[in-house]
Amino acid sequence: MPEIFKSPAFVIAGRDLGESDRLITFYTMDRGKTRGIAKGAKKSKHRFVNALEPFTLLNLSLALPRTTGLSRIDSAETLDSFSSLRGKIDYYIMASLCCELVDLWTREGDPQRDLFELLRSYFRSLKEGLPARKATLFFETLLLSLVGYAPNLDSCLRCKRPPKDDHVAFKIHAGGFICKKCQKKGEDAHRITLGALKSLKYIQNRKFNNLHRLSITDAAFEEAWSFIHDLHCHYLQRVPASYKVVDTITSKTYSKK
Ligand SMILES: [Zn+2]
Repeated sequence: MPEIFKSPAFVIAGRDLGESDRLITFYTMDRGKTRGIAKGAKKSKHRFVNALEPFTLLNLSLALPRTTGLSRIDSAETLDSFSSLRGKIDYYIMASLCCELVDLWTREGDPQRDLFELLRSYFRSLKEGLPARKATLFFETLLLSLVGYAPNLDSCLRCKRPPKDDHVAFKIHAGGFICKKCQKKGEDAHRITLGALKSLKYIQNRKFNNLHRLSITDAAFEEAWSFIHDLHCHYLQRVPASYKVVDTITSKTYSKK
C-alpha cells in the first residue's frame, strides 16, 4: 500500500496530462505546495465531481510515490467550492492572479501555515463580495511580507528618517526609499506619493480582516497597485501571465476598485 498524505488544500493550478489525466497543483496546509495526478479526470468528470476546480478548498488525500515520480490523488472532498469566484470575471481573474503568485513564489514541500490562511482569508473576502482589486492589493502586499520581500516603508535608506514630504523615491533593488532631501539629481527611482506609501504601510501592519477599514483615494490606490505589481515582477524576475490579463481587463472594464 502506498503512503497516504492527507491535508486541507486549495487548488491553485491545473493542466491536462496526456489523454485522460490532469495534473493539479495544490497549496496544502501541512506541506505547502504539492502536486498530484488526477487519474482519468479528463475523461470522466464523475470521479472528482468539481473538487478540482480552481480555488476549491478540499480535504485532499494523496497517494505518495514509493520511490520517485508524482503523487496520485486518492480522494478529494470539497469543503468549500468558492464557486462564486468562478462566476464573476473580475473575481476569477484576480483570484487566478493570486494563485499564480503563490505558485511562482513557493517551492514544493515548504509549508507556510500563514500563507494557507492568507489564501483562505482572501477567497472568503471575495466570496463575501468585498472589492476584488482592493482585496487583491491586500493579498499581494501581505504575500511579499510572507516570502521575505516586504518593502521597507518606514525610514529613508540614507538618513533613516521617516518620510515627511509629499513623495519619496523608491529604489526597488534596495527594497526601500530615499526621502526628498536625500535624493540626488537625476537619480533613477520609482516615485511614490506619501498617500500610497501610508496605505501600503497600513496593509503591511494589519491582518486581512482590516480590509474594509482601509480608506484610500483612487489615485493612491492606482499608484499602490502598480507599485506592488512592479515589486512582484522585479523580485520574481518575470511578468506573471495573469498580470498581462489583469492589465488589459482592468484598463477597459473596471472601475478603480
Ligand atoms: Zn533621507
